Amino acid sequence: PVVTRFAPSPTGFLHIGGARTALFNYVFARKMGGKMLLRIEDTDRERSTDAAVAAILDGMSWLGLEWDGEPISQFQRADRHAAVAHEMLANGKAYKCYCSPQELTEMREKARAEGRPPRYDGRWRDRDPSEAPEGVDPVIRVKAPESGEIVVKDHVQGDVVFRAENLDDFIILRSDGTPTYMHAVVVDDHDMGVTHIIRGDDHLTNAARQIVIYRAMGWDVPEMAHIPLIHGPDGAKLSKRHGAMGVEAYRQMGYLPEALRNYLARLGWAHGDDEIFSTDQMVEWFSLEALNKGASRFDFVKLDNLNGHCIRSAEPAHLYDIMVDTASETGRNADYAGLVANKVTVLAALPELQPRAKTVLELIDLAQFIYAARPLAMDEKASDQLAAENLEHLRHLGDRLAQLEDWSLDAIGDAVRTYAEGAGVKLGKIAQPLRAALTGRTVSPGIFEVMTLIGREESLGRLSDAVG
Ligand code: GLU
Repeated sequence: PVVTRFAPSPTGFLHIGGARTALFNYVFARKMGGKMLLRIEDTDRERSTDAAVAAILDGMSWLGLEWDGEPISQFQRADRHAAVAHEMLANGKAYKCYCSPQELTEMREKARAEGRPPRYDGRWRDRDPSEAPEGVDPVIRVKAPESGEIVVKDHVQGDVVFRAENLDDFIILRSDGTPTYMHAVVVDDHDMGVTHIIRGDDHLTNAARQIVIYRAMGWDVPEMAHIPLIHGPDGAKLSKRHGAMGVEAYRQMGYLPEALRNYLARLGWAHGDDEIFSTDQMVEWFSLEALNKGASRFDFVKLDNLNGHCIRSAEPAHLYDIMVDTASETGRNADYAGLVANKVTVLAALPELQPRAKTVLELIDLAQFIYAARPLAMDEKASDQLAAENLEHLRHLGDRLAQLEDWSLDAIGDAVRTYAEGAGVKLGKIAQPLRAALTGRTVSPGIFEVMTLIGREESLGRLSDAVG
């Protein structure tokens, strides 16, 4: 059975690249009827925090990427990592190295002087352990092959060849008995039964080193797929301005998890020309071979378009919950209170608001007319609409509407149209100032809908506030 894993380091939030890696692991596991495990790579004790672990789990849950089983802590497995290192030692696949820091520095400087990459020269590889200096705690190094090639057979990159002489006998266990990252990853992936490693291509060189450990232990090397990183729209490394943020930030900017999943899928994977698809469809269509070989470019315009699409096609009740959640997450207390107190009206208004918003924040802005307190705050364009001549019309119209008995969409529409005809002006000339008076903006759902949504008393009250 297929087992994938997502292995974030908890030194910050779940960033957008990590979220995409998690998505591919999740989708592939589902496609194959397998499992996706979660391993927290918390061996860097200085930089790993509980808050970061919580942020990663939250981010994954919000994105709908459920993992199987309990999250595994890499740090908790340090004894097992050490045991494997000692097993390699006993089997002659690794050796103790007693080099002093000074010797290592000299080796590095020599390499630099000769224009070679720094590389451990293997001086303890065949040395008799009886030569060990007194009182020095050794590190354990793996015996890497001295000649030939190591080939990473990758589902995305193809066969990537590394020459043995470029891979030195790297450390697997430090002198204090703690494992190196390179070693811990292999032991964990093996013990967790991982069959497929899908991760960023910044780990490709690590893959070659990790294969050395698999071979030394006689373990099967998992299938690998190293995906190209996400770049900015300019092709450079993804910057914060261009999208290098935590999943949290996307949530707070008003993106829906389904839109982000769809967008992240398209950043590095394609199914023909399909731009819009559900995660179920992605599961159905997914294959590692269809992962892109080239770097992808982050594009907020595409994300906004997908988000707008998801907002338009979402159920109002689902969106309402997300609006409340977003208002609370972003500290929009007045919106939160207004949305909660006016649930029925907001739900009724949503079909009118959905086509006008690309993000949940825009949706909240559009809903504000429902619960805005009187007198309404006017935006600049709305104030411009409330000039003298327009106010005169609004005053007369207000008198007419006050006499209207039937406050239905049709009756309101008739009354406003009749007034415009009588006054000899176009409907728009009346509708825009009316919209300004009733919503404080120049963009809103149809103005007659607005009046039925907020009701007779509130409509007449706002009109009279505007005309003074
Ligand atoms: N912890 C590594 C990272 O966050 C991932 C290691 C792996 O997937 O093998 O980049």
